[in-house]
Amino acid sequence: MVSEKQIAINAVLRAMQLCQRVQADMVKTDAVEKADRSPVTVADFGSQALICHAINELFEKDAIVAEEDSQTLQANPQLMQGVVGYLNSFVEDSLSPQTVCDWIDRGSGEVGERFWTLDPIDGTKGFLRGDQYAVALALMLAGEVKLGVLGCPNLPLRLDDPGAQRGCLFVAERGRGAQMLSLDGQLSEGIHISRTSRRFAESVESTHSDLDAHAHIARQVGIMEPPIRMDGQGKYGVLARGEASVYIRLPNPATPDYRECIWDHAAGLIVVEEAGGLVTDIDGQALDFSRGRRMTDNRGILATNGELHPQLLECIHRWPQSSK
Ligand SMILES: [Mg+2]
Repeated sequence: MVSEKQIAINAVLRAMQLCQRVQADMVKTDAVEKADRSPVTVADFGSQALICHAINELFEKDAIVAEEDSQTLQANPQLMQGVVGYLNSFVEDSLSPQTVCDWIDRGSGEVGERFWTLDPIDGTKGFLRGDQYAVALALMLAGEVKLGVLGCPNLPLRLDDPGAQRGCLFVAERGRGAQMLSLDGQLSEGIHISRTSRRFAESVESTHSDLDAHAHIARQVGIMEPPIRMDGQGKYGVLARGEASVYIRLPNPATPDYRECIWDHAAGLIVVEEAGGLVTDIDGQALDFSRGRRMTDNRGILATNGELHPQLLECIHRWPQSSK
């Protein structure tokens, strides 16, 4: 029987190919605004349709909790046409719009004992800029992340080598370590956090966190190098392979009640943990993926190489805006 890991890897690789194809052809009109004002594209829907369908084929009973649903698509015939067109060229079939919506809405499952969580494109704004984004899939069991597959189509294999090949797949299984694979299948290596790296990773979007506070906290722990700013969960990959020592996400003071979505962190968390790092919220609490689509009991994110964790929690605790 094919393993969950292999299914997840194959599905994410296919979705990455579709996203790359869309990005290569991209015209600005492909993006529409969702109700929460974040953009969503042909590639978000196409990626979700492919991955949900692949899981459904082998694990029919598994719930999938994914970011998108077909509502926006149903209200936008031009976008629908785009999604159906890309998918048909991809699966070499003639899927109907209804079938495509059914595949996408397979991702409207509920959080439970066993479920998958998916962000078909994490970092849509990065995707639209032609920059970093990720396809993130995780399998959850009894409240714990068991498997994470994180595809980063535009991430170089090494950040300090501008000529490095682009496209990384991070894979982690609970208790079995974390690996990085290149998209051409030539590279597959175990990855580990670094005890010596002194760099921060953070979001590009200032609305996602509190970049001023990050800079202040970085200085307090003696980190002077400029942060690595990146859209999507590639930040977890960069931390897991030792290029950064901290990924921090303090709640933006303008939106203190914002709670993180499970699909934005589940795959990244297991990649970092299996590489030897630590991930909690900014109060030092474990991330609780069992509350629903959002982590209602957690505030912000702190992912580190482990060693820096206590010191950073202390600095965060002293930062005025982060007090409860
Ligand atoms: Mg997304």
